[in-house]
Amino acid sequence: MPEKFPDSVVKEAFIRSDGECECMDDRHNHSGRCNSLITYRMRGMEFPGGWEACQFAAEKPLDAGNCRIVCIDCYKAGKILPLISYNGRDDMV
Ligand SMILES: [Zn+2]
Ligand SMILES: [Zn+2]
Repeated sequence: MPEKFPDSVVKEAFIRSDGECECMDDRHNHSGRCNSLITYRMRGMEFPGGWEACQFAAEKPLDAGNCRIVCIDCYKAGKILPLISYNGRDDMV
């Protein structure tokens, strides 16, 4: 659940996201990274700009590297895991 991440971790991940959705689930209506614009103060809101923090790998610690910032559309689209299918690339932090 998104609430597991401490605020400081979510904030760090959000800064990394550049205010854009980090979802790369190709089963959604976007190819490659979603990049929908999101707004920090709109976390959890079901409006354009809304977003949530999701855990990428259940077995990994709750740090920013394991936190993915996704827009509310992707969050609701579900089928989240694996949230980001990296092409061997996991050095975003
Ligand atoms: Zn998205
Ligand atoms: Zn998506």
